[in-house]
Amino acid sequence: MTVSGSWQAAARGAGLLGTDGRIAATIFAEMSALAASTGAINLGQGFPDEDGPSEVLDTAIGAIRAGVNQYPPGLGLPDLRAAIAEHQARFYGLTVDPEREVLVTAGATEAIAASLLALLEPGDEVVTFEPFYDAYGGLIGLAGGVHRTVPLHLPDFRPDPEELRRAVTDRTRVILVNNPHNPTGTVLPRETLELVVELAHRHDAVIVTDEVYEHLTFGPRHVPIASLPGARARTVTISSGGKTFNTTGWKVGWLTAPAELVTAILAVKQFLTYVNGAPFQPAMAVGLRLGDDFFTGIARDLRHKRDVLSEGLRAAGFTVSPSDGTYFVVADAAPLGYSDAVEFCQALPGLAGVVAVPLSAFCRDAYAASTASLVRFAFCKRVDVLEQAAARLAGLRPQPSGSTR
Ligand code: PMP
Ligand code: GLN
Repeated sequence: MTVSGSWQAAARGAGLLGTDGRIAATIFAEMSALAASTGAINLGQGFPDEDGPSEVLDTAIGAIRAGVNQYPPGLGLPDLRAAIAEHQARFYGLTVDPEREVLVTAGATEAIAASLLALLEPGDEVVTFEPFYDAYGGLIGLAGGVHRTVPLHLPDFRPDPEELRRAVTDRTRVILVNNPHNPTGTVLPRETLELVVELAHRHDAVIVTDEVYEHLTFGPRHVPIASLPGARARTVTISSGGKTFNTTGWKVGWLTAPAELVTAILAVKQFLTYVNGAPFQPAMAVGLRLGDDFFTGIARDLRHKRDVLSEGLRAAGFTVSPSDGTYFVVADAAPLGYSDAVEFCQALPGLAGVVAVPLSAFCRDAYAASTASLVRFAFCKRVDVLEQAAARLAGLRPQPSGSTR
């Protein structure tokens, strides 16, 4: 099938089409297909292999049975909006008006898409850190924006403040921040977040912040950018139930922002999906109101899983970066003699029966070159699965230097 030339050009620029004009599968879909066809343990695409809290699941089942199956209101069910506002107050001391400052979306992805489409004029610049979640590049391109990136530097994936200062200019319309950060597992320091706020003020930019891993941190508690002085009035805060409640397939997300931004974003969102997930919305409300034990429990369990996998990777010979949040850890395959993570990840199912994702999938060419041997592993799997993966990886033989296979 052929598609229109202008769409093709835009889609190619956004990395959605290969140079041959065929639709490019995301790295996650590609690697999950590889895991399925080889029977390897899938530590590539980030999705949990266990169900979330039964209260949440039972509420969705009950809602379907109770007939909550038609279009919910455009902003989202009032009770979910109330639960989101309560959550922001309870965890972060943020006061948001559930009637005007909350919008329920089809996952965080739609919240990001609708925000960018609402905010950007063609040619406006969007600054993100690099590596960046793959959808950012595609969505900025689809919205006609120009993507500028600020590298996160090894060993702990921190940005250089000067590089951040240089990237944000009067051409910047949006600073799109992901914290805690996929794929690196870094939790950005408060100084970085404060600098983002300072630069947004100086250059009159909007901060769009993707905080889907807000409850999955293993050190200091998560600090939403909107909670910093001066940030709220220009910040769109995005999250999603997928990570917190192990329901990635439900695609219920949300954003909180000043009312005029919510109105602008809703104007776009109503023509993207209009609404979604009616019976899942009350379930998310129940989840957001679960006790503190639940939230500390998921972070504690995941921290243990991080430790199991990180230890296994170290024992297998990888150099392992710290992961303070998300459910991802970055490991360097270079000490094992593998200099090209793309080839390494293609070969890994055969070498060790494990699937992972090359970090270059989250990078542009120039940055990817400096991180060519880095691999992202997901640890949102049962402990016995991670132990089995670690045992398999322990059998990896170091390659003679120069060889990639
Ligand atoms: N942002 C980041 C950083 C993610 O890792 C993901 C992962 N799935 C998303 C957004 C998408 O969230 P959702 O599935 O709620 O659209
Ligand atoms: N966020 C998940 C990851 O980073 C995958 C989401 C997707 O497949 N689009 O692995």
